[in-house]
Order: sequence, then C-alpha cells, then structure tokens
Amino acid sequence: MTNIVLFGKPGAGKGTQAEFLKEKYKLTHISTGDVFRFNLKNDTELGKQARVFMDAGDLVPDELTTKMLIDEVNKHPNTNGILFDGYPRTLSQSVALDEFLTSINSKVAATIALEADDEILIQRLLERGKTSGRIDDQDEEKIRNRYQEYNEKTAPLMDYYKAQGKFFPVNGIGSIAEITDRVSAVIDNL
Ligand code: AMP
Repeated sequence: MTNIVLFGKPGAGKGTQAEFLKEKYKLTHISTGDVFRFNLKNDTELGKQARVFMDAGDLVPDELTTKMLIDEVNKHPNTNGILFDGYPRTLSQSVALDEFLTSINSKVAATIALEADDEILIQRLLERGKTSGRIDDQDEEKIRNRYQEYNEKTAPLMDYYKAQGKFFPVNGIGSIAEITDRVSAVIDNL
C-alpha cells in the first residue's frame, strides 16, 4: 500500500488535487471533512456529535475522528493505498494513524504539503462559501478560527513527519494541472 497524506491549510486545494491523484495512482481517497459532512447531512449519531465543532470551525475531538477514520480505511481492505485528505490534523491523530497502519503492516509513505499564503486562501474560501453551502466557509471569523486551529494543532505535524524524512512541501499556487504535476513528481520519486 502506498499511503499518502495530503497536508495543507483549509482552501489549499487538497480536495481538488485528491480528485486527480486518486485516478492517476488508483488510490482510495478518504476526506474526513467529506465523511463528517455526509454524516451531518444524514443526521447520524456521528453527525450529531460532530456538528457543533464543525459549525464553529473547531476540530472534532480526536477519539471520534480517529474511530471514524479507521472504520473508513477498513472498508477498503484491498486498496493500492489511501490518499488521506484532512487527516491527521493533530499530533495525537498522527500517532494513532502510525499505530493503526503498523497494525495492518503498512505505513505513511509521504506527507505532501500544499503551501499557499493565508490571505489568498481566506479569499478563496469566502468565494467557495458563496456556492458550497458550507456554514464554515461563509463567515470570515469561522475561517480565521480554522486557521488558528491549524496553526496551533496541525502545523506541529510538519516536524513530526520531517523527523521521519517523510515531509514534502509543494508550491500550492498555480493552475490545478501544474500543482498536480508537482505533487506527482514527489509520488513518482518515492
Ligand atoms: P475540511 O473539509 O477538511 O476542511 O474539514 C471540515 C471540518 O471537519 C473541520 O473544520 C473540522 O471541524 C472537521 N474535521 C475534518 N477532519 C478533521 C480531523 N482530522 N480532525 C478533527 N476535525 C476534523
């Protein structure tokens, strides 16, 4: 299994790139944000528990998120690899992911970070909010809260993966195809 973590701030283009990369490398794309939104829409027990955090732009608690993630991965026992989009987002999630992957004789092959300036991304999210219907994309204060969550809880993961030689930053500004090429160059070199 070639497991790739797509890393980046909200609006950096993880979801967009994942759509291309999953086809190109025949990977299973798991977006924790999408799984949560599906549960919200269908008003499941998980959705009910996650809603208050998501609507505020806060991270959903680790235990709930990791359980959901493991359930998702286990739905694809014969996959070529997983493209993780939006997970892990805390150090405890990274450790949980490593432990889980080790337990199925696998590992994270690379963490690829899409890098872009905050102000560009915030404008992108506000634009997306006009059509996406996402409450967390429509209010600048909630968006800024998601960036604060990222800076406090997610940014430290860069050091975690750097220490393992698995961190690959990529310039996230450019056309979709240009960025796919940059990410592909990293994957092709693994
Ligand atoms: P996203 O679509 O990745 O921006 O995620 C939308 C929201 O889902 C986030 O703001 C969090 O509330 C929640 N979420 C998604 N992934 C995670 C995660 N790995 N840990 C905690 N919360 C998450």
